[in-house]
Amino acid sequence: MQDVEKIKKVFELNNSTLQIKLDILDVYLEYRKGARIICRLDSEVESIVKIILDMNIKVSVGKGLVFQKKGSNNVVDFFENDTLNTEKLIPLYISLNDNYANSLREADESKEDFKFGAMLDYPTCCIRKVVEAGKVPSIIEAFHYLQENEKFNVWTWPVAMIGDASLLVHYPCTSKCKESIDIAQKHFHLIQKYAPKYIIDRVIRYHTSHYAISNDIISIDEKNGILSPLNDLKKMDNGKQFSGSME
Ligand SMILES: [Zn+2]
Repeated sequence: MQDVEKIKKVFELNNSTLQIKLDILDVYLEYRKGARIICRLDSEVESIVKIILDMNIKVSVGKGLVFQKKGSNNVVDFFENDTLNTEKLIPLYISLNDNYANSLREADESKEDFKFGAMLDYPTCCIRKVVEAGKVPSIIEAFHYLQENEKFNVWTWPVAMIGDASLLVHYPCTSKCKESIDIAQKHFHLIQKYAPKYIIDRVIRYHTSHYAISNDIISIDEKNGILSPLNDLKKMDNGKQFSGSME
């Protein structure tokens, strides 16, 4: 049985991205068999490891440290602080199953992209797109390929990552990817029910605002910008309001 207090504690973690929180909760709630979270090698790792062990989630720690490359996306999306480019980051592979956490690490370290994506339970169509392109898209690329006639689908909009407000932890293959839409809706449901108000407000803001791009810098504005939302975050695709229950 899942513990509501533990879910709330994950959302209340300080200095962690929404993406990390959703990855942890996906594993805890068994939406996905495993996840990789990339943490800063400071107190962040400590607080995250403490909370996930308390949730009976198993952790396998990656060997190598990775360094976030300066300007890789031209967007500072993760930690909103100046020292971002010099920080040491460490990957943690998490699962409810000990062996699975280790296998995840091995698949990542051996660069078996398709296998690794499948083990993370990302939609097959979305993994295929990344494998065929040979790389994960940048946020700027996502900004372009995920729009439909100057609109964006609120359920397939990882670009909200620029405000730490993405409802997805992977890049959807298209703006209409059914599996991605389902995942985003599950995540929004969780956020609405258990996240602190500032997170809910931020997620809503980044899915109701207009987006603009200039010199490869993406920005949002409540009313102006070339891209506006296609649909309403508060309504499911079938037009029904969220009931407020877990299922
Ligand atoms: Zn897809």
